Amino acid sequence: MQHLLALTVLTTARGWRASRRRTIRRATRLPQEPAELHEWLQPFAGADEFRAARLADLAKDASDLEITFLGTASCVPSATRGVSCCALRYDGSTYLFDAGEATQVQAQRTTLVKPGKVEAIFVTHLHGDHTFGLPGLLCLCGQDRDKDDEPIEIFGPEGLRAYVRASLQLTQSRVAAPHVIHELQDVPHRPPPGFRPPRGPLVSLRAAGEAHAAFGEVFEGRSIPREADGGWTCDTRSKTLSVRAAPMAHTVPCVGFVVTEADRPGALDVDLVKPILERNIPALKAKGVREPRRLFRVIKEMAPEEVFTFPDGSAIKRGDVVGPDKRGRVLCFCGDTADASALLPLLPPRGADVVVHEATNCRVEPFDNDVSEEEVERSSVSHGHSTPNLAGRFAERAGAESLILNHFSPRYKGDASPAALAVMAKIEDAARKTFGGDVVAAWDLLSIPVAAKDDAAAAAAAADAARLADAADSAAAFRRGEMSAPPPRRKAPRQPAPRSAPARTPAPRSPAPRSSAAPPAPRLKKKPGASKVR
Ligand SMILES: [Zn+2]
Ligand SMILES: [Zn+2]
Repeated sequence: MQHLLALTVLTTARGWRASRRRTIRRATRLPQEPAELHEWLQPFAGADEFRAARLADLAKDASDLEITFLGTASCVPSATRGVSCCALRYDGSTYLFDAGEATQVQAQRTTLVKPGKVEAIFVTHLHGDHTFGLPGLLCLCGQDRDKDDEPIEIFGPEGLRAYVRASLQLTQSRVAAPHVIHELQDVPHRPPPGFRPPRGPLVSLRAAGEAHAAFGEVFEGRSIPREADGGWTCDTRSKTLSVRAAPMAHTVPCVGFVVTEADRPGALDVDLVKPILERNIPALKAKGVREPRRLFRVIKEMAPEEVFTFPDGSAIKRGDVVGPDKRGRVLCFCGDTADASALLPLLPPRGADVVVHEATNCRVEPFDNDVSEEEVERSSVSHGHSTPNLAGRFAERAGAESLILNHFSPRYKGDASPAALAVMAKIEDAARKTFGGDVVAAWDLLSIPVAAKDDAAAAAAAADAARLADAADSAAAFRRGEMSAPPPRRKAPRQPAPRSAPARTPAPRSPAPRSSAAPPAPRLKKKPGASKVR
C-alpha cells in the first residue's frame, strides 16, 4: 500500500514537472523555421524605434489625468515586468490601484509617480501579486511625510486591515506613512465557471489584527456597507473624483473600481470679460477687492443664469461668457476577473472613457498551436482570469473608447525585444476582434494621459489659470459678500505640460483605429487546436 502511494506521488510529481516544462518551453520558444521567424519578427526589427514611434503617437496630447502602469504582470514579477500596480495622477494627487511586490522599486523608476503625493490606494483583492508590495510602499511613502500629515486612505476587501497591520507590526516597520484602512464589507466570493477550490482550509478574511499605534495606522477606518445597487462607495478626500467598487468574478473575493470625474465648468471667454474687468479695477479696489482678477474665477463658477454686475453698471451673464461644461472622464479598473459585468451598472449612461482590464492568458500562435481559443478561454476563466477577447467584450459593453490590457501571464515578456513586441501585438489584435475602440497592451512605466474632450478649448483659457486656479477660497468669500480676499496661496497650480511620456486621446470608435505608428501585427493563422489545456 505504501509502495502504491509512493508511486502515485512520484508519478503525479513527474507529470506536474513535465507539464511545467512544456508550459515554460511554449512560453520561451520562438518559431523554429527561419522563414516563419522572419515573418514574425520582421515588422518589429527596429524594436526600440517601434516602441519610440508608438510612444510618440500616444504622446500627442497632454492631460491633467494620467494613468501610469508600474507593473503589468500577473502572478510573479520578472526581469521585464513588475506585478500589478497602476497609478492615476490627477489634480496634483496620486491614486494607486493595487500594489504588487516591488511596487516601491517600480515607483522609483519613474519621475511620474511621487510617493509623497500618494493620496489613496485601492486594492482589488488580497492575492499577493496585488498586495505584497503594500507594506513596503507604505514605508517608502513614510519617508516623504510627517506623522501628522493627512493619512493615505486605503480601500479594499475585508482582511486588508489585518494584513497590513500584521505585516507592519511583525516587521517592526515604524517608518510607515500615516494611513487609514477602509474595508468594503461582504465582498461576495463569485467563483468563475470551472473554478476548483484549493485543497486545505480557506483562511477567514475577518481574522482580526491587533490595533497598535506605533506603525502609522490612524484608527479611523470605516467598514463600508454594500449599497442597494450592489456597489460600494469609496469616499476619498478628492472633491472632484468619485470612486465606486463592484464585485468581480475571481478565485477570491475581489472588486473592480469605477473612477468618475465630476463635470467641470467650461472655458471662460477671457477676451470678452477682461476689458470690462480692467476698466473697473480702480472701483473694485476702492470697494475692498484686493485682487480684482480673481473675479474671472468667480464668474466662471456662477450658475449659468447668474449675472455679475460691475461697479460701472456692466452686467455679465455667466452663460454668455463661459462655454459648455466639460464632462468628467470615467475610468474602469477591473482587477482580476473572469467577468467584470457588475461594474456596468455603476457607469453613467454614456459609458466609460477608458477600461483597464486584465488579459492574463491568450492563445498566441505558433506557441499555442496545440490548444484552441476556446480551451484557452475556458482554462483562463476557470482560474478567474480573462483573455484579450473577453476583455474586449467587456470594454465594448462598457461603451469604452479605449481598452488598456494588463496583468499578463509571466509568459509574455514586457521588454522592447522584437519577439516580445510581436507577441504583444498579437494580444492587442485578439482584443480588437471583440472591441472596436483603441487597444493598448500595457508595458511597465507606460504612461497614458486621458485627455478631456475639449481640452483644446480649455487650453485657450488656461493662460490665466495660474492666477485663477488658486482663487477658490477668495471667490467663495467674495460671493458671500466679503469684499476682502484672503492672501494667495504659496503654490501656483500645476499646469499640464507636454512630456516625453506617452499620451493618448481616446480615438474615435468606429472604424476600429490602429496606431499609425504600429506596423501590421504578425498574421494570425487559424488552425484547429489540439486537446491539451494549459
Ligand atoms: Zn493577479
Ligand atoms: Zn487574483
